[in-house]
Amino acid sequence: MRVTGYKSHGVGAAAALVNAVTSAEGAGTDDALRGVLADHGFFVADFTPDTAARLRPWARTLRAVFEAETLDRAVELLNALLADVPMHPHLADHDERGLHLHYAPPQVELAHRFRATTLMNLSELVCDHGIDRIGVCAAAGCDHVYADDSRGGRRRFCSDACANRTNVAAYRARRREQ
Ligand SMILES: [Zn+2]
Ligand SMILES: [Zn+2]
Repeated sequence: MRVTGYKSHGVGAAAALVNAVTSAEGAGTDDALRGVLADHGFFVADFTPDTAARLRPWARTLRAVFEAETLDRAVELLNALLADVPMHPHLADHDERGLHLHYAPPQVELAHRFRATTLMNLSELVCDHGIDRIGVCAAAGCDHVYADDSRGGRRRFCSDACANRTNVAAYRARRREQ
């Protein structure tokens, strides 16, 4: 099994885009989306308002994959998208990630590069781990998604803040019961 230490950056980028666009507190502004791409190693020099307009529907599409309750459902969704998004693999080396695959070459429009790379990297994660590594944050009141490509892979929360808040609440509940 080709385990984690994934050099790819599409998995984290996919979750961040979904959260930026579809979560209750996600601003979803052009600047916010540009920031998501920049934070995850995409070259944003040619980011335009049109790029953002193309990425918003992609965020809503990907959210369904994170919310899939069974592996069959996730596979069905991913296969439909894989049939739809053209892939042109391209070897890239940037930001000290080491040589890794992009699924569209640099001359292709940015929103398409992002779609192709996030889709393939999410698909690879599901091939390796089923749906154990993707989901919606387990904290009460949080609608963020997460994708876990860490070695341990025990993540259930979108952030340390949500994990801590949930642990404190559980601790207090236990104290009350005693
Ligand atoms: Zn890359
Ligand atoms: Zn959360």
